[in-house]
Amino acid sequence: MGFPEAEARLFGGVWICMNCNARNRSVKGKPEKCRRCGSKRLRPKAKEPRK
Ligand SMILES: [Zn+2]
Repeated sequence: MGFPEAEARLFGGVWICMNCNARNRSVKGKPEKCRRCGSKRLRPKAKEPRK
């Protein structure tokens, strides 16, 4: 079971910094802070999948 992209989707994967709009990838859960600017204001890029 080695599909990083699929796993990333399951866990949300990408978080967008609301301060600088940088993309922060996270294996699971919310990153502590933005990698670029250090802001803690992050929002998940991946929304709920349609079914
Ligand atoms: Zn940032």
